[in-house]
Amino acid sequence: MALPFTRTFENKKNLENTPKVPHILVIGGGVVGITSALQLLNKGYKVTVVAKEFASPVASGKCITSEIAGALWEWPPAVCGRHTDEKSLERSKVWCMDSYGKFMELAMKPKETGAYLRQSVFYFKDMVEDLPAQLDKMNELCHLPGFRHDSKLIEETAVNTDTGVVDAYQHMAPMVDTVVYMQWLYKQCKDKGCRFVHDEIKGLLRDQAEGLKRKYKAQLIFNCSGLSAKELAGDEDVYPLRGCILKVRNDGSLMPKLNHSMCISLIEDIDESKKDGQSFVFILPRGEDKLWLGGMVQPYQWDRNLTLDYPPIRRMFEKVKEFYPPLRNYGDEDVEEVLVGLRPARKGNVRLEWDPVCPSILHNYGHGGSGVTFSWGCAIEASAMVDRVLKRPQIYLSKL
Ligand SMILES: Cc1cc2nc3c(=O)[nH]c(=O)nc-3n(C[C@H](O)[C@H](O)[C@H](O)COP(=O)(O)OP(=O)(O)OC[C@H]3O[C@@H](n4cnc5c(N)ncnc54)[C@H](O)[C@@H]3O)c2cc1C
Repeated sequence: MALPFTRTFENKKNLENTPKVPHILVIGGGVVGITSALQLLNKGYKVTVVAKEFASPVASGKCITSEIAGALWEWPPAVCGRHTDEKSLERSKVWCMDSYGKFMELAMKPKETGAYLRQSVFYFKDMVEDLPAQLDKMNELCHLPGFRHDSKLIEETAVNTDTGVVDAYQHMAPMVDTVVYMQWLYKQCKDKGCRFVHDEIKGLLRDQAEGLKRKYKAQLIFNCSGLSAKELAGDEDVYPLRGCILKVRNDGSLMPKLNHSMCISLIEDIDESKKDGQSFVFILPRGEDKLWLGGMVQPYQWDRNLTLDYPPIRRMFEKVKEFYPPLRNYGDEDVEEVLVGLRPARKGNVRLEWDPVCPSILHNYGHGGSGVTFSWGCAIEASAMVDRVLKRPQIYLSKL
């Protein structure tokens, strides 16, 4: 379905006049790398993806970040936020709307693609001063289907008013079952001739760009290595925002099946020990019969070996139940899995640009808590950047 706010996705580039089809090496097998790879393949480029780890077809404790994503599409800044730079926020809005259009198409076949379109409700504890104006602006910009700003939503969706919730809005939003979706992405790429290589690249990319291009017969390199960009791009602004998901069932056995997501930011600090830890609650229907509960944000924490007994995770579980009381029917024994992931954050926002020193490298990393939301938008912009470079080789190729 074509939406008024979307740009063209499958804008196949006419590569017939190009003597040899350009080949791009993508580093990273997460949602950012693979969406970029698929967009390049859709345009007719040859692509090889190299990654240390790929997503697994069955959910496992050793997931890559892209599988652990709550994968709710959010208008920027997302509840787990930290994308604060005004200029970058404007850019993010274009990325997220391009992604919206794509996920809307994919949601026509949710069981095959893993992409669902569902009602998403955002709640506010304090009356945000200019919330109505902000929402009007958002609605004007994107005309999100099902948009409604109404404090009656609080009662209608049975959240606990004792938590101080005073306002809410809702709209239809993409929610992605990333285990299914990542496999769908891999298959699309494979069917279009993409080559996948398991390998770990160590050290600064710019020092080995020539060697990598020779090895993989590529003209350009996409750096979509998430948190590893700290090492591969030597970017000290990259840091982890640790998060956690509790997976429970959503089959109507413990409470009525939930078909919409619920999010609220800044209730109380779940991680009391860290003033820096912005907290929020989210309750997300996942696929057909699961619910993902979450809300932890811990900057600069790398350890993923946490359990339900870790106090901030326990508090997060309590907060989720307090916020939406029907969840009180769930005990520890109903938590099927505790998934801990590190959002690849970057001070100042996503990096989507050519490397200034080694211009055959295009960086696409630092998506923090919005990697799924931005994935298609960034991939579209990145592929357009490649088109421009390869259309004007006299300017660029001398430097590649
Ligand atoms: C708890 C939690 C909830 C989230 N909720 C949402 C949400 O609701 N909505 C949303 O949009 N986003 C959400 N996110 C964020 C989202 O998961 C990330 O932004 C996204 O997954 C980042 O994708 P990526 O491809 O950049 O990184 P990754 O998924 O980390 O992929 C990086 C890839 O690079 C490879 N790699 C790394 N180093 C090397 C190397 N040296 N050599 C070769 N390959 C390498 C890895 O093996 C991997 O394949 C959430 C994240 C978490 C943890």
